[in-house]
Amino acid sequence: MSTPSKALRYCAFCPKLCRFACPVSAVQARETVTPWGKQTILHELVRQTLALDESAARPLYACLECHACRTYCDHGIDVPASLRQGRALALRHQVAPRAAAALAAGFADRQRRMQGAVAGLTSGRAVGPETKVALFPGCAACLERPADVAATLRVLDACGDGPPALVADYCCGLPLLQAGDEAGFLATARRVRRALSGLETIVVPDPGCLHAMRVLYVERGVKIEARLLHLSEFVLPALGRFRRLSLGGPAFYHDPCHLGRDLGVYDAPRDVLARVLVDGLAEFPRHRERADCCGGGGGVPDTDPETARAAARRRLEELGPPDGAASIVTACPTCRRLLAGTGSGWQVRDLVEILGEALL
Ligand code: SF4
Ligand code: SF4
Repeated sequence: MSTPSKALRYCAFCPKLCRFACPVSAVQARETVTPWGKQTILHELVRQTLALDESAARPLYACLECHACRTYCDHGIDVPASLRQGRALALRHQVAPRAAAALAAGFADRQRRMQGAVAGLTSGRAVGPETKVALFPGCAACLERPADVAATLRVLDACGDGPPALVADYCCGLPLLQAGDEAGFLATARRVRRALSGLETIVVPDPGCLHAMRVLYVERGVKIEARLLHLSEFVLPALGRFRRLSLGGPAFYHDPCHLGRDLGVYDAPRDVLARVLVDGLAEFPRHRERADCCGGGGGVPDTDPETARAAARRRLEELGPPDGAASIVTACPTCRRLLAGTGSGWQVRDLVEILGEALL
């Protein structure tokens, strides 16, 4: 690289118009990790006026890939897309943060662990000639919430057209991309496309996987032919299969960044929850396009866990202390983990837990 891209030039000469929106710069209170700061460092690296070493590389990983900055950018600059180029450079030159390099190096093992974690659910769920619907659960749910994968299968059994297959042999590859391994991500995207060929509908409850498959694969020339639906989109026409459920009070809906800002899926989870929950839905002060990130994106929970936790606490500070009756519902296993892990006392649930409980 030697000529800075338009995105890098725009940001480097911008009066930091989106600075206030970036959760990383808000929790770290450092100019270096504002969108302007990170893009300026990459701008100088590309111009070769700054040496690429570990300290220059670290800010390139201080991004949650939440796209909050783009909401406020008149030019629609995609900061995470720029920073990924810098991460690829850092990984190639062996100056990436140790945790990012470990993410890339440990990817095959992560896939093996993922398969092992849900091995008990795969019996009779292989893709066959009659398969119409398949569940692509994603590695986060398999590794951390196998019970949610089982609940998702029950929901699909009840709502779908024939028993769903379970495709739990593959991670979508997003951890590789977040680490800076572009070639590994592309190879994974191609493998996933082969594994999913011939299917009509694939339900992808993890917004990170869904964004990867609907957008990031396509940007790299890998198109999956099947309909790719979030769980909320899949169950929306089948809400008659669920009873009304009380959580003891209203539920605040947290928009996952990859589902909301990245894919524009704001209404489907709200429509499903509004129909199922007796006590109704409530909104965070910052919601939909302006929702703050839970801290779970961009590989930050691995490369800088304290920043990830601080971003999660910041998100919950919008609501203040838990009031006892109200709870939080999201539609992403990573958001659930980050928000539930703050120790704030708020009850945090994933959409699939609600749907599993509400099945008739
Ligand atoms: S993303 Fe847009 S608003 Fe933010 S620093 Fe870059 S050019 Fe400025
Ligand atoms: S994508 Fe999110 S974390 Fe990254 S620079 Fe933009 S606002 Fe900050």
